[in-house]
Amino acid sequence: MTSSTSLLQALTDRIGADHVLTGDAAAPYLTDWRQRYTGAAQAVVRPGSTQEVAAVMACCAQHGVPVVPQGGNTGLAGAATPDASGKAVVISLQRLQQIRAIDTDNDTMTVEAGCILQNVQQAARNADRLFPLSLASEGSCTVGGNLATNAGGTQVLRYGNTRELALGLEVVTPDGEIWDGLRGLRKDNTGYDLRDLYIGSEGTLGIITAATLRLYPLPVAVCTALVALRSMDDAVALLARSRAGFGASLTGFEVMSGVSLELVVRMFPQQSLPLPTSPWFALLEVSDSESEAHGRERFETVLEGALEADLVQDVVIAANIAQGRALWHLRESISLAQSAEGKNIKHDISVPISKIAQYVRTTDALLQDLIPGARNITFGHLGDGNLHYNLTRPETMTEPDFLARQYDVYRVVHDSVHAHQGSISAEHGIGQLKRDELLRYKSPLEMALMRRIKDALDPKGLMNPGKVLVGTGDGDSAV
Ligand code: FAD
Repeated sequence: MTSSTSLLQALTDRIGADHVLTGDAAAPYLTDWRQRYTGAAQAVVRPGSTQEVAAVMACCAQHGVPVVPQGGNTGLAGAATPDASGKAVVISLQRLQQIRAIDTDNDTMTVEAGCILQNVQQAARNADRLFPLSLASEGSCTVGGNLATNAGGTQVLRYGNTRELALGLEVVTPDGEIWDGLRGLRKDNTGYDLRDLYIGSEGTLGIITAATLRLYPLPVAVCTALVALRSMDDAVALLARSRAGFGASLTGFEVMSGVSLELVVRMFPQQSLPLPTSPWFALLEVSDSESEAHGRERFETVLEGALEADLVQDVVIAANIAQGRALWHLRESISLAQSAEGKNIKHDISVPISKIAQYVRTTDALLQDLIPGARNITFGHLGDGNLHYNLTRPETMTEPDFLARQYDVYRVVHDSVHAHQGSISAEHGIGQLKRDELLRYKSPLEMALMRRIKDALDPKGLMNPGKVLVGTGDGDSAV
């Protein structure tokens, strides 16, 4: 028996042949959502419980086989795709689907890692509570993936990233031990915070199998508006005005360039823009805890003030929930419209909000010098200083020629981010896509400290090699 067949037999013994996939059955798990990376694996395994995850991990550790955790495979940094060596086992958490408990007195819910985010939101709503994490991929991404990437989304402004929404974790270590850290505590200063180490670690330290999450009261009314703006400076000024006017009720403030929304209506003609085209748009959401009428009145007062101050050019306020959803749908369709149009060069950057307008102005000009005619598809969570600052090829350039300039584009964009005291990955993580970039911008000491944590928690280097840190795997599998 070869070592590969003995490993597959051992995995089959632990979780059943139906859940050890090879060949065509494994293929969908080996390419990422953007189709930028395709890897190979000895098998894709689908354990159905924490105990089965532990058994799989112990088995892989005994065989010295690397593992790649995977949730919904919607990640945008190639972090859930194995390298091309074919040595790894992909562990899909999709069968860990249970909502284990909802505690409405404590405002928490405990869910398994493979639960789809949308199902978790619905389970919270059924208990008359809000789970506020919200991403355009929420119909496919999993809570385990959200935790492993510390996902952001559209309500970070009010409720924080996934990190702020998680009180406790259950984790399987690379050797197959189970750490039960499912505490529903808002205060717990008993030593190092292991939970926060695993959150955002992109599957490089252990496998998250369950989490205890924070819940919030459901808002009584939600008001949504789309506004047209002349410039990013005006968007930043409107954000400040909205913060002052709405306080903690401001739950979303998204910015989108006119070019982004024009792309959406071009690629998806069933959608339409309710306002004439404009250089920039902002999407505002306010959640009111008193009443529909109260929420709407405050909303109209603040936006009328902004119109009178000539800060905004035009406003459409959603008259009902369906209209509000249609406005959000425009925003959420930008990534899909970009994928439909072809491959592009994506950046997920953050800079201090006070520097964001200057960042966009300076970097747009530098990119035009580099690739004249390239189109910026810029949109994102302005309330968090986070932009998806994407670049699409000029019509005169072929896709391969454009993609060959990726690292030149990175250099311009990321050097500019660095010069503006920002981050090269605000919410999507590092994965394999930005692994080498990380080295350029983090200090040697910060990299060394990260390496020491990795070595302490994963001494054999079997957890998701080649992701986040250089020198932990066989290298790029980019296609
Ligand atoms: P995967 O893609 O399967 O995995 C992502 C990483 O997490 C990998 O490193 C993987 O190894 C690790 N991982 C997965 N599950 C586990 C686990 N149980 N234990 C340990 N490690 C694990 N992201 C945002 O932050 N904000 C957005 O607004 C946003 N919008 C998006 C819109 C679209 C259309 C798409 C396609 C993606 C978007 N994303 C966004 C990116 C993506 O959806 C998130 O990163 C999401 O959190 C990934 O979850 P997943 O279950 O798909 O994880």
